[in-house]
Amino acid sequence: MSGFPVTCAERIRTLPPYLFAAIDEMKQQAVARGVDIINLGIGDPDLPTPDPIVQRMREAVANPLHHQYPSSNGMLSFRTAVANWYARRFHVTANPSSEVVTLIGSKEGIGHTPVAFVDPGDIVLVPSPGYPVYPVATSFAGGIPWEMPLLKHNGFLPDLDAIPSHVAEKAKLMFLNSPNNPTAAIADTAFFARVIDFANRYHIIVCHDAAYSEIFYDGMRPPSFLETDGAMNVGIEFHSLSKTFNMTGWRLGFAVGRADVIAGLSQVKSNLDSGQFQAVQEAGITALETDEQLTAGLRAVYQERRDTLVAGLQTLGLQFDVPTATFYVWIEVPAGYSSASFTTHLLDKAGIVTTPGNGFGSPGEGYIRMALTTTKERLGEAVERMKHTGW
Ligand SMILES: *Cc1c(COP(=O)(O)O)cnc(C)c1O
Repeated sequence: MSGFPVTCAERIRTLPPYLFAAIDEMKQQAVARGVDIINLGIGDPDLPTPDPIVQRMREAVANPLHHQYPSSNGMLSFRTAVANWYARRFHVTANPSSEVVTLIGSKEGIGHTPVAFVDPGDIVLVPSPGYPVYPVATSFAGGIPWEMPLLKHNGFLPDLDAIPSHVAEKAKLMFLNSPNNPTAAIADTAFFARVIDFANRYHIIVCHDAAYSEIFYDGMRPPSFLETDGAMNVGIEFHSLSKTFNMTGWRLGFAVGRADVIAGLSQVKSNLDSGQFQAVQEAGITALETDEQLTAGLRAVYQERRDTLVAGLQTLGLQFDVPTATFYVWIEVPAGYSSASFTTHLLDKAGIVTTPGNGFGSPGEGYIRMALTTTKERLGEAVERMKHTGW
């Protein structure tokens, strides 16, 4: 490279080190050695997007109406499909014009929310371990992330009583995520009711990430935050078509909730992006309108995989809560190991890629995450290999 020196902004230079880079490197080396890797590390569905959605996209892409700029906050027809889905799935009423916004994946909306509401020095309460976008987007906006540790003795839910009042008083936003990545814990409406009280007491906007609400087991449907009385007055909920319909590549999500919060987020979007391709939103309408047919089969696949992996891990004596939602298993590392050393052990000795829990925040130390995004045959093979490897 030649020319004058280019330095990244401080907000980039001070980003926490990317803990997964070392694992990627080790994985590449193993692949190069010819090791048959079983990848349980990725949170990206391995199955294709269902046909009816792809078919609708094929038709929509040919429509010249969609070839121009979309509106930045989304097509009213898509937002109406979202509102109808909320009514059907959660019995929540939302006005599609003012209480719903289309997102270019929920990551986009999560990333832009602090830009809309956080001033330099404001605190944002974030679950840890958690999705790295919450603290990083907070820092980009000049805010200060304050970690709410998700620990076993609290059922992996934030302990609101452990948040000092001087912190709560400076907090502008709180991110929550249920069903949770990486712990798979589910918050119930009693917990959400306590969150709403807390939010009203300290004037904190609640941003609930429900990306995994449709990936559940044994028929136990996780609640929406917005189902709880008063939730619409304190915040918004993010959703995504990524995990629900195997659409991670399409970049389609949405937020629903309090109108002035949706408006603030929309204002950022209108200044920074121009919305999602309308053909993608049309395909999203098909997804939301036929969701039961599409998601029931998907859940059956994950359920088989979960049952296979869980049964195998139990025979190996590993400690974990059986997940009732998400496609993750959050596993305690055996005595004598750290997150990093157990991850390395499984990769070196068994060719299995997992994710070290501390990569999601320091309270995740002592855990690894396995994802169910591979076939049940491969999950069974992973268990067999671990049986021979031991620890
Ligand atoms: C995968 C995931 C999302 C979804 O991201 P998209 O941008 O919609 O693809 C959001 N939150 C969490 C916690 C996730 O794991």
